[in-house]
Amino acid sequence: MARLTQRLLKRLRNDFQLSIITLMSFFGIMGISPYAVYRLTEGNYLVAAADTTIVLSTLCAVFYAWRTGDTVKPGIYLAIIFSLGSTLIAINLGVNGLFWIYPLILFNFFMVSPGKAMVATVLVLASLVGYALLVPGAVFESSYQMVSFLVTGMLASTLTFIFALRTRRQRDQLQILAILDPLTGARNRRAMNEELKIAVATHRRHGNSYGILVMDLDHFKKINDRFGHQAGDQVLVALVELIKCCSRQEDRLFRFGGEEFLLLLPATDEVGLKAAATNLQQHIGARLKSPGGPVTASIGGAILGNGEDWQSWLGRADRCLYQAKSAGRNCTIIDETLHHKQHLPAQ
Ligand code: GH3
Ligand code: MG
Ligand code: MG
Repeated sequence: MARLTQRLLKRLRNDFQLSIITLMSFFGIMGISPYAVYRLTEGNYLVAAADTTIVLSTLCAVFYAWRTGDTVKPGIYLAIIFSLGSTLIAINLGVNGLFWIYPLILFNFFMVSPGKAMVATVLVLASLVGYALLVPGAVFESSYQMVSFLVTGMLASTLTFIFALRTRRQRDQLQILAILDPLTGARNRRAMNEELKIAVATHRRHGNSYGILVMDLDHFKKINDRFGHQAGDQVLVALVELIKCCSRQEDRLFRFGGEEFLLLLPATDEVGLKAAATNLQQHIGARLKSPGGPVTASIGGAILGNGEDWQSWLGRADRCLYQAKSAGRNCTIIDETLHHKQHLPAQ
């Protein structure tokens, strides 16, 4: 039980949108359920049915989001249900129901993208005003009240739109910064660990084959010592450009140490991995230059084994890299132990 709670809390911490959907739905259900009962006892069955529908659909959407990990569809669904429900309630209750439109505006901006939330809000306001114009006195007590409501509603949604847009942009930028190495623009070690775990999980589930190449520049310290750190930095930037140019689009490059890089190659077997390593080695040897002349790299590689974890996979490639260094550098060694044994998960 404690482990389950821990797992659920971890998911909430790691998935911002799931936590928002869960939290807003919790408040929505807590806030609306008492009204559903109250309207029922009052005999206002239409509003009671709308409240109950909102509560039940919220429960279903939250369940779906937890079950599938998809938070986009439940978000859109909840925004539609809450917008329709609030509009119906406001039409039915008049001024007393209009107060619900303000939390609805906030709710929609939490559930869906700022653009979609703005469209939903404008549709709700337009429906209420349209209905009020068709049936005077049904929703608003006076034209003055209707205009005030429209102006405050639009103001609230425009301000929320600007806030939501800024927050979303900052969050996207933070997410990018969190996974990229600022010098070279390659993905960093944090991203590498995640992607290796995903590769292992995909391999276990679907049997896709993956290879990795671990690269380390040869005698890089000398470049720094002779020409300065900045010259060394330029070589690293040029190396990343070069690797990106001569690898496939689906290959992922990570900088996981000072001048150590890892290339993750999906859908690659041992023959393919060797060919990719040779190709990289040739391009680096021929095109990567420092002020002191050509720069070479040593490469170690390994194909992911059945039942193997990512640490063991990386460890095998790393050992090959150090063998390549011991063998005189500027060469590639691919691990071939997979032919002899299959890796079983650690007990
Ligand atoms: P080897 O052939 O054995 O790999 O020799 P090496 O000199 O390349 O040795 P090693 O791989 O241990 O060298 C790592 C050097 O990389 C040490 C450090 O000064 C340098 N380095 C690490 N990060 C950076 C960086 O961001 N910029 C620059 N310019 N140098 C870095
Ligand atoms: Mg080195
Ligand atoms: Mg190194």
